[in-house]
Amino acid sequence: MNLPETMRAWVLGDPDEIRLTTKPVPPPGRAEVLVRIDAVAICATDLEILHYGSPARIEGGLPFNKNFTFGHEYMGTVAALGAGVDEYRVGERVTVEIHAGCGQCKRCRQGMYTSCLNYGRPEKGHRANGFTTDGGFAEFAVNNINTLVRVPDAMSDAEATLVVTAGTSMYGLTELGGLVAGESVVVTGPGPIGLLAAGVAKALGASPVILTGTRDNRLAIGTKLGADHVINSKTTDAVAEVLRLTGGIGADYVVECAGTPAALDEAVHMVNRGGKICLAAFPHGRVDMDVAHLVRNNVSLFGIRGEGRCATHRAMALMASKRFDATLIHTHSFPFDELETGLRYARDRVDDAIKVVVTRT
Ligand SMILES: [Zn+2]
Ligand SMILES: [Zn+2]
Repeated sequence: MNLPETMRAWVLGDPDEIRLTTKPVPPPGRAEVLVRIDAVAICATDLEILHYGSPARIEGGLPFNKNFTFGHEYMGTVAALGAGVDEYRVGERVTVEIHAGCGQCKRCRQGMYTSCLNYGRPEKGHRANGFTTDGGFAEFAVNNINTLVRVPDAMSDAEATLVVTAGTSMYGLTELGGLVAGESVVVTGPGPIGLLAAGVAKALGASPVILTGTRDNRLAIGTKLGADHVINSKTTDAVAEVLRLTGGIGADYVVECAGTPAALDEAVHMVNRGGKICLAAFPHGRVDMDVAHLVRNNVSLFGIRGEGRCATHRAMALMASKRFDATLIHTHSFPFDELETGLRYARDRVDDAIKVVVTRT
């Protein structure tokens, strides 16, 4: 591939401000490739970063006015290989997971590279593109080969950007034990991670899969993705309905993707004795919940960060074999130059936007 020396890249200015600028095309190092970015999905976390800065962290602080490029849910084409790379060829289509751990700390060695103990220390080899290192709202990005997943020819660029979101859902189910066939799963919150969690849980054989939320249009998409039952918690007592659907005992697993204090406390009462709750969304403040109920009922609580334990590869396997149709959550596309419009659609949910994808051309 003929590579330019410079590229266009969006960078954060002050909070809620982005600028289109020019940067050098970054050179891939050992075990890295240069990816020409063909499509990027906008994530709720991008909107967090744009407004609050956190959870992105650059040079030990907030990422504003540091020439930092955000965006982390991207796919593209391998454009150049770093030293020693023979696992990929120039021209192959790939999608990415976010975190390249340092590979040497205890957590990385355990497969928990999203919780790398050298988080945010690029000098140790750690990268979290779009969080601690430059991300995907640019023409090119450098990725460690351990963050790449091949994209089958039949999969569109837009669908490939959704693999890391499904990977996050998959990681949540992995941390809960992974083998969910025949077991009941409640997913709370029909955002992108929750909707794809319903699809992944169903593909893994969970039964029944129950999805709760407050927007009927999103719940209807959940049904298409594989939810056996959907509950609108605005009009129905979601806890009572989950108990009814599970023979009065509650679900084996709850994947909490809403992040609201009410949803968190409801999750505690939706799970059965000895059951497990995965926290996949983060609330802004402290949360009041019935901890005594968790203790008395032997309930385990798991926080997950991102998409560890190669979950993105497993999510791709399910998506490549069309076990669920992730494209149902892709609602809008905008060209690279119109990122600001795309961000506005995602933030304000204009026209019922769920996943907004920004494309190279
Ligand atoms: Zn994301
Ligand atoms: Zn590490």
